[in-house]
Order: sequence, then C-alpha cells, then structure tokens
Amino acid sequence: MGFPTSVADDVLVRCGRHCCLCGKYVGQKIELHHIKQVADGGEDTADNCIPLCFDCHAEVKAYNPHHPKGRKFTEKELKGHRDKCYERYSLENRNSDSSTLNSEKTKSIFPPHENMSLIRWGYPEQDKLCPVFPGNIVLVAGCTGAKKSTYLYHIVNQNIISGHRVVYCCMKDKPFDVSIEIIGENAHVNVEYIKRGIVTEEDWEKLTSSQVNLNGENLALIPYNELSESNKILDIVENSGAEIVVIDDFNGVLLDDADSVERFLYKLKNIAAQSQTVVFVIYNLSIPKQRIDMRPMLRDFPSDSYYRLFDVIQLLYKPDLFFNDKDDKERLEVIIVKGALNVPYTIKLLAPDKITGVFSLAK
Ligand SMILES: [Zn+2]
Repeated sequence: MGFPTSVADDVLVRCGRHCCLCGKYVGQKIELHHIKQVADGGEDTADNCIPLCFDCHAEVKAYNPHHPKGRKFTEKELKGHRDKCYERYSLENRNSDSSTLNSEKTKSIFPPHENMSLIRWGYPEQDKLCPVFPGNIVLVAGCTGAKKSTYLYHIVNQNIISGHRVVYCCMKDKPFDVSIEIIGENAHVNVEYIKRGIVTEEDWEKLTSSQVNLNGENLALIPYNELSESNKILDIVENSGAEIVVIDDFNGVLLDDADSVERFLYKLKNIAAQSQTVVFVIYNLSIPKQRIDMRPMLRDFPSDSYYRLFDVIQLLYKPDLFFNDKDDKERLEVIIVKGALNVPYTIKLLAPDKITGVFSLAK
C-alpha cells in the first residue's frame, strides 16, 4: 500500500516539493519513501515518510546489506534530513534565523482596508490581457535603461489614485528621489524641473493640488538601510497592511546563491498569497552583448526559480538602447512571458509621455 492522499498532501506542502536529501525543487518528479520499510513493519504515516527526488530515492534504496559498500542511510538520519528540509520551507520559522533574532517585526503601516478593487496596470490593454490578482508576485525585468522603474512609477500612481496603499522598498535609489518621480507622475509635472529646482507657478499649482495627495497614508518609502536583511522585506509584505509592495530592485536583495534565491522567492510567494498582497519585483538583467536579438529572454535569468515561482513575468525591451533607428525611438516593448491569458504576448508602448516620461499605449 502507499501513503494515503492526506499524508501525501501534508508532506508535499511541508517540503514545498523539494527533495529532502539534495534540496532540489523537483515538481512532479518526487516520490514518497518509507523510512522504515513496510516489510519491516513501517507504517503509511507522515512520520515514516520522506519526500525524495528520483535520483536520491534510488540512492537510498541502493544499499545492499549482503554486499555492504559505503555507508547506508539510517532511519534516524533520514528523519533528520527531512525535518531540516521541512523547517527550511516552514513559514513560522522564517524569522528564527539567528541573523534576525534581534530585529523587530514591522508594525502595520496602514490600517485594514475593506473591499479593495483589483490592482491595475495603468495600461488598459494589460488589465484585460494580464490580470493581477491579490497575492500574486509579479516580476518586471530588463536590462539597465529599459525604464523598469518609470514603468512601475506609473503603476504605483495609478493604483494610489484608485485607493490602494503602496510600500516602495528603495533598494537602489533614495526614497526622496523615488517620491519625487511618483509625485511628478501624479501631478503631471516634469520631474527634471523639480530636481533642478525650476518649478513654474503653474507646476507648483499642479504639485500642490495633485489628483491624490501622496503622503504617508497611501505611500510609504523604505530606505535601503532598513532593508539590509532579506527577512525584513518578507516582514513588510506580511505585516504592513499595504495592497502593493514594490521591490526596486531585487538585485539589491543580498542573497548568497541560487539556493537562497529559491528559498526567498518561495517564502515571498507564500507570504504574499497569505496576506493577499501584490508584490512587484524589479530585476536588472545582464544581457550578453554578442546577441543579434537583444530582447531579454528567460535564459538570461541566473536560475529557473524566477520562472517557476513568479505568477506574472514581464520583460521590458527598449530597442533604442541598442539600435539607431528613428522608428524605434521612444518605443518600449512589454513582453509578457508568464501570466497573460495568451503567452507570450508583446504590448508596444509609445512616447514617453512628453511631460512625465511615462509610456502610453502605441496607437
Ligand atoms: Zn534528491
């Protein structure tokens, strides 16, 4: 007999479909091994079960007591590996890492908000094509200069106008600079003028009577020095009370290796889903110079965790960064590779808007 479905469901959730020995995420290529064999009286219980990938399962079963070679896996050891694996993917334990013992939990930044409308892209075609649901994690990636932040400022502003609250994690730019960009976008005033201190009376009028007053009630900007521990970001997603959290950019989140990225994104996905927060993550891709087509591709990501774990993935491409073609000037391609009803799908945005630098839909 095999393990009953209730046991299988339980253990697969606890390991997040990662092999408990080698730690790899293996999706469907996972098997449930009896730690104590049924023939030896082992039961079909969660306690007697360890999820393993095909390779590790074969390895564990390979030991032949009649021809002893190497060291076999003991029952106690297998349970040890398994429990360590479960702990890695357990939400309760994410704040118990020694590095964060002293850090305090974020108090709610925003009060509870009932009956929120859906998150909008601010680009009408996208709302139809690529809906974003509460709890989704959304990746916006592209090379340097692809206008990723500008693209996000527009989305942030549009959602603040419709009543959402946003926490912007400023991993790269200073909160002041980010706030000016969003305020400029909101009031339709050229940010360059604000930065240089040349604001006309008319602009000043617009700034002070912007559609929605941007303040601590709907926009919180968190500086990099408060986000040095990656767990702090998870904490904000879970506890801030915001409908939207932006991470700009993910390259600034210090994670040692592909394995840490996998674990972080896995937790982010779970916490976002639990708290029904939409998380927009900006990621700066380095694209090999020798390519003919300079559009970003999935293989430009350092690991497959990104594709697997994000709910929506959009790649931004700005042709004029690479080619001198008049027609391409000011064009932005949004290549939706995951999440659209119909993928891949490319939306072409034009301009930028002469005033704010924000892109609008190509006619
Ligand atoms: Zn394995």
